[in-house]
Amino acid sequence: MAFKDVLGHERVKKILRKALQKKKIPNSILFCGPKGVGKEEMALVLAKAINCERKKDDACEKCTSCKGINAGNFPDVMVIQPDGNVIKIEQMRALRKIAYLKPMVGKKRVFIVTEAEKMTEAAANSLLKVLEEPPLFSYVLLMTHNPFLILSTIKSRCQILNFPPLSKEDIERELMEKGFTEEKARVISRLVRGNLKQALGLDWEDVQVTRKQAWMLFLSLVKRENFAFFLRNYAFSYKSLVKQDWEQILEILSSFCRDLVLLKEKSDSNLLMNPDYEDEIRKMEELVSLDWLMKCLEKIDFAIYGLGKNLNVNLLVSSFFSNFKEWEYA
Ligand SMILES: [Zn+2]
Repeated sequence: MAFKDVLGHERVKKILRKALQKKKIPNSILFCGPKGVGKEEMALVLAKAINCERKKDDACEKCTSCKGINAGNFPDVMVIQPDGNVIKIEQMRALRKIAYLKPMVGKKRVFIVTEAEKMTEAAANSLLKVLEEPPLFSYVLLMTHNPFLILSTIKSRCQILNFPPLSKEDIERELMEKGFTEEKARVISRLVRGNLKQALGLDWEDVQVTRKQAWMLFLSLVKRENFAFFLRNYAFSYKSLVKQDWEQILEILSSFCRDLVLLKEKSDSNLLMNPDYEDEIRKMEELVSLDWLMKCLEKIDFAIYGLGKNLNVNLLVSSFFSNFKEWEYA
């Protein structure tokens, strides 16, 4: 895998390649971004590019170093993962010891610490010593999905690289390249909030169940007579659903609303997010106005935004429901 093979994150790639060309890679970098967006892949490419025998600003994938790192048996590149639930002080002590030894076969030593937020305080303090006096030939790349859990003393000694969630379009394209049908790729890319790993691991049967749930919710929204059903199935059971369930259901709900907008506006039905529901959605065309749909989309987007900002799930969902009760149907 070279830089071009890491999905998205063009800005990060540009920064890293420029730094590689100028030989000015910072000794400690904190990769921040949601799970599954490719932070570790990027770190591995960087480790290869730093050690590559042929290329200056990328991995050639052919030299001994690149091949060794890909095979996981290159002694100068180490990946440190949590041991159980935490990264222990012993792990960081070992890192510290090795960091000051000259590389064995490569040009530089690179330590990739995944889930850095799981460092115990003692482990973090042990690592801090390396970050404070970094040996010229060692690089520490820390990954985290939650920079708030990283000690500020660590953060302040790292260059921070932000990895935004991948776009739905990027994920859709990648899934299709991996052999997913267009329909599956389109549906799944909307469910995973920019997390490619999750997209690749989703079970299509489970996805269909969630879609069915969202469809029932959509039905009860557009058909007022299903209100009781809606309340029974959602309002009273929502507490058992976790944030991720809600994000998925709301994303799909939003996609049904968007599809209905498209159909009402007589747009190209190839653009539908849920082509397999087209006939069903068409039956709803006369039930609600465009205005109502737009308002609905706005409320759903707000709820999704709130979930993403880690606002209280129960509060958000309650307010979504109570809003819903007051919504006027046109
Ligand atoms: Zn190489």
